[in-house]
Amino acid sequence: MGLKNNDNNKKSNIAFIIGVAIIIGLALAGILFFMNYNKKNDNKDFSYTELLTSINEGTIEKIEMTEGSNTAKVKLVNEDKEKNVLIPSVDSFIELVQNKSENGTQINLIQKERNVFITILRTLISFLPTIILVVLVLMVFKMQGLGEKGKVYDSETQKTKIKFDDVAGLDEEKQEMIEIVDFLKHPKKFTEMGAKVPRGVLLCGNPGTGKTLIAKAIAGEANVPFISMSGSEFIEMFAGLGASRVRKLFEKARKVAPCIVFIDEIDAIGSRRTSSSGAETENNQTLNQLLVEMDGFDTEESIIVLAATNRPEMLDKALLRPGRFDRQITVGLPDLNGREAILNIHAKGKKFAGDVNLRSIAEDTAGFTGAELANILNEAAIIATIRERESITNKDIEDALKKITVGLEKHNRVISEKDKKRTAVHEAGHAIVSHFLETQKDIKEISIIPRGMAGGYTMYKSNEDKAYISKTEMEEKLIALMGGRAAEKLALEDISTGASNDLEVANEIAKNMVTVYGMSDIVGPIHINLEKDPYQLELLGDKYTDLIGKEIKALVDDAYLKAQTILANHMDALEVVSNELLEREVLSAERFEELMANM
Ligand code: ADP
Ligand code: ZN
Repeated sequence: MGLKNNDNNKKSNIAFIIGVAIIIGLALAGILFFMNYNKKNDNKDFSYTELLTSINEGTIEKIEMTEGSNTAKVKLVNEDKEKNVLIPSVDSFIELVQNKSENGTQINLIQKERNVFITILRTLISFLPTIILVVLVLMVFKMQGLGEKGKVYDSETQKTKIKFDDVAGLDEEKQEMIEIVDFLKHPKKFTEMGAKVPRGVLLCGNPGTGKTLIAKAIAGEANVPFISMSGSEFIEMFAGLGASRVRKLFEKARKVAPCIVFIDEIDAIGSRRTSSSGAETENNQTLNQLLVEMDGFDTEESIIVLAATNRPEMLDKALLRPGRFDRQITVGLPDLNGREAILNIHAKGKKFAGDVNLRSIAEDTAGFTGAELANILNEAAIIATIRERESITNKDIEDALKKITVGLEKHNRVISEKDKKRTAVHEAGHAIVSHFLETQKDIKEISIIPRGMAGGYTMYKSNEDKAYISKTEMEEKLIALMGGRAAEKLALEDISTGASNDLEVANEIAKNMVTVYGMSDIVGPIHINLEKDPYQLELLGDKYTDLIGKEIKALVDDAYLKAQTILANHMDALEVVSNELLEREVLSAERFEELMANM
């Protein structure tokens, strides 16, 4: 998230408004004071009726009136000071005075020409409350992003200095980014070749994993402006406003192209369209506008839209069509080396005592995001400052870690050393068992970095779409699935809840083998479809359904036994692979094969 930028922006906005408010306040106070001061001198407490009485009594020395004003300055014979009197109707008053004069009562009425300056000032002052109100309203609107520029950062000032070197780890992700940078730098090279250029790239990953950082680094490397906005800015907007913001954003992008447009939290506007009312309709308009803009790109226009989300499955499918966000890059949690590299980057500019070992901090922070790691070092620097140290000590870092961990523990995000060990054994079990099964041995990656609900994973190479799956393959799949639980049993002499998903999948497969694909010799080639025939099981009779149950159980039991047999014969491999996993957290297929070859 471009958090820092937004924050700075907001801060300077707030400072600006406070400044203006102070100036307005002072001006108002001044004007009020000035008016009061005048009032005191003028002795305004003299009414029109009193004036008429005085005229009748003949106690008026002179009356002075200015053209266009409805107050008269009245001087009485026996008083020094002039009094201001409000005249309800100036014309009839003058008529009255002239009548009186004609009837013998001499009244000294002086009629002055208007003073232009004072009139203007008066008018201005009378409009002042309105002006202030309008200014305030405008400022509030600007705060909400309704003003001309809104939150679209100024392109000139948003040439970011961030480079790929500022992004640690994420090597695979960077590789894909280099291509985009190349396109931004030499768009002609691509278009002349007739190459399809990237339009939109979706960055998927948890908050704080560096998606914004990567987007900025692309802009920085290509030396093009970085224009950004966040999907969440649209949520509370008035109808049609989101769409108009999107239009303005792309207007701006076209002006400064080549450039990067970054849309953070795109799920806020790009969630699946539903036909209901209210906020969702508004989101639809915004989303539709975004699609219109992306479809309207010229082939020559080098604008690349990067969007970030941690819920790609929530996105409207229309966003993912060719020519829109047709590339996805998953930004995962950093592994051990990645974490060390991130810590190294954020250690720059900080002073550390000799006892600080960033590698060992990296080891203690499995499952942390880049943002959280950066946060630890910042927190440690603050703690060291408070403790008036000359440099950050290991103790400061440990305390910072504790402080941040407490927050994370609430979200179940911290993995204990014991759990890590168990996960390593479990995943090594899957991998080693798979290694010895003809249909399961194509492993892509083994990891003990949590993903979704799972503590770790063993990833297989995606096999070409096959029309059929053989019975052998299904049996071997069952054995591979039981490899995790089997490894825990053999190496840790205790089993855990960690295998529950494996068991669920295994039982489902076994059930299908027996009741859908008719693969059990004992039960025979039956096919049960309770949706079509809810009484099918009853018709088969208890004896038969018992048999089905027993066959399913036998398939899973057998797989569990076979997995244990394989592992019992390769306990040395289990130890080596699980230890290496514990150390590196991720093993590539190559490294795993290397280890297995040396056994
Ligand atoms: P996201 O956009 O995925 O929520 P950000 O890019 O905003 O995450 O990351 C927040 C901060 O965390 C960054 O500004 C940076 O300081 C730190 N950070 C995250 N990932 C990395 C990384 N791979 N290398 C260096 N710093 C990182
Ligand atoms: Zn498992």
